[in-house]
Amino acid sequence: MKKSVLCILLAALLALTACGGNASPTTAPSGESPAETTAAGEKEGKPVEKIEENPLYVRKVENMPADFILGMDASAVPALEASGVKYYNYKGEEQDVFQTLAECGVNMIRVRVWNDPFDEAGNGFGGGNCTADTAVEIGKRAAQYGMSLLVDFHYSDFWADPGKQMEPRAWKGMRFPDKLDALYQFTKESLEKLNAAGVKVGMVQIGNETNGAMAGAHAWEDICEFMKAGSRAIREVCPDALIAVHFANPEKADSYHGYADYLKFYGVDYDVFGSSYYPYWHGTLDNLAAVLNDISATYGKKTAILETSYAYTPDDTDFSGNTIGEGTSGITKNYPFTQQGQVNSLTDVVDTAVNKMTDCIGVFYWEGTWISVGTNSWEENHTLWEKYGSGWASSYAAVYDPDDAGKYYGGCAVDNQAFFDASGRPLDSLQAFNLMRFGNEVPLRADALEDVTLMFDLNGEIEMPARINAVMNDGSRQEVDVTWQLTDADKAKMKSGGVAVYEVKGEASGMEAKAQVSMIEYNFLQNYSFEEGDAGWTVTDLAKADELRVENKPTDSLTGPCHYHFWSAAKNSVEFTLEQEVKDLPAGKYKFAISIMGGDAGDTDIYAYVKIGGEIVGKAPMKITSYGSWDTGRIGGIEVGEGQAVSVGIYVKCAGAGNGAWGKIDDALLNTEP
Ligand code: CA
Repeated sequence: MKKSVLCILLAALLALTACGGNASPTTAPSGESPAETTAAGEKEGKPVEKIEENPLYVRKVENMPADFILGMDASAVPALEASGVKYYNYKGEEQDVFQTLAECGVNMIRVRVWNDPFDEAGNGFGGGNCTADTAVEIGKRAAQYGMSLLVDFHYSDFWADPGKQMEPRAWKGMRFPDKLDALYQFTKESLEKLNAAGVKVGMVQIGNETNGAMAGAHAWEDICEFMKAGSRAIREVCPDALIAVHFANPEKADSYHGYADYLKFYGVDYDVFGSSYYPYWHGTLDNLAAVLNDISATYGKKTAILETSYAYTPDDTDFSGNTIGEGTSGITKNYPFTQQGQVNSLTDVVDTAVNKMTDCIGVFYWEGTWISVGTNSWEENHTLWEKYGSGWASSYAAVYDPDDAGKYYGGCAVDNQAFFDASGRPLDSLQAFNLMRFGNEVPLRADALEDVTLMFDLNGEIEMPARINAVMNDGSRQEVDVTWQLTDADKAKMKSGGVAVYEVKGEASGMEAKAQVSMIEYNFLQNYSFEEGDAGWTVTDLAKADELRVENKPTDSLTGPCHYHFWSAAKNSVEFTLEQEVKDLPAGKYKFAISIMGGDAGDTDIYAYVKIGGEIVGKAPMKITSYGSWDTGRIGGIEVGEGQAVSVGIYVKCAGAGNGAWGKIDDALLNTEP
């Protein structure tokens, strides 16, 4: 048998990405004690010192400026802590999470600000219940460790994103000029609070993912007037802060150029054009670089990646479903869901920002500190989410957002994309923020296995591959030996079980390997179900039938929408053969089958046949009776020698009276016999 025909290695599920290979051993700068080498120290000109002894591979991002922003959104931290979450350092001691972030190389903190995320009774909507006061608390703590703040004004009472830009409830019914003033005042007062508290505001966002809408406005003129009002307040209160606009979906062709055009046309004063970039949703990094470089080149703006993230585990830890995980549909999974995959994803984003983008000033991770409030039960967690607003939304949000938050409120959807485990211990991957500046060389090892998809003919042998692809810690792919848990008895069962799909497990490089094995009936015929017209088939019309053709009518077909149709009004006008010749059939024992249904045929002579060397060597009589009654002609035991030309087909002759004979032919099969 030609095994290549029967065992088809379909595809590896993970696409190859180019990374790794250019890392080199580095030496840490000397002369500073580790205690002084926080990100703050670096910003003040002191060198950052490399963290030693991390087990993960981290490619060095060449040419990274000392002041390049490696930011972390930490908006939910106070609500999590109120819910009982504790954060630890690498020694297992409880430690301020902002200190840990700074020690690991994070140098700026992002925090969202909502106008009024509470109902009339004072119950929080969730998502951290983030207000200007939350920003003050977070900003003060960040400042202790030398980190400035990116203040992310949503200008909404709750989440704002491309699908949702609702105005604050307090603005309802206001004239537009009054809304502008309200936005200006809110921005001004919030930033004054932060200034008064000694928070260093490094950057301020005027809106969050404002793709064509903001604070309830949908006309670009209005959106831009809102932005200008915010911008004016920022310049007045925080003259040293950068002003950022923020959009999402860089993968949508030309959208960013269009947004920037409006901002220019209406005269919005801003410094940084920011984008979200979730690698599993938002297209390629090359595209991201291209669209943001276009903004820099055309409009003279700095750019920034204001949100990115990746999963370190497929597992959920808080009993409330996650945005991505094993088997999530519609996502691009270029990295394994491991800490190493998380590091490689982040490194690729930062490397692109530094080395492929002309004016990118930084990358922010969303939201690496948002972890589970508990690991006991949904009920326990739910109580905490409701009380402290530590889930993505509480049921109280229904008064503002009844259709989404009001229905689907719950916990954290990104706990598997955090840099802390469910008990608040920092992951090794968090140190990548530091190690990207130096590179971290570790021995090459397999980090994950690619799932394989296999197909075997029911009549052939099940031969599992001896080696499969592993994703190495540096992102490269390498074949590794695999042992499958599949006994001869299992194989026999699969072969006798008909057409079916199985999951076969195994072990490779100390990890569980998985293969999806489809047992199929291999078919040596081309276009067996007439879905490609009559391709491959030859019709010989011996009695000039009125209709003899392929028909697209799913209700009259066995498989797929199409079948071969015949009809003729006059008596004795149906006589034809429908035949396919198969060349280069491997020598062996074969079977053939084909199906027919029809009616009004009178006396008939119908049979399936097999011809070898022009001679009929097998026949199976068939009949047509009524609509929907398919009859299958089967011929087995066909011995085919090397190089013999084989033709298979059906002969149909009807002496139909009255309304004329009609019929449908479908699903021919030529395969080996066991
Ligand atoms: Ca979750």
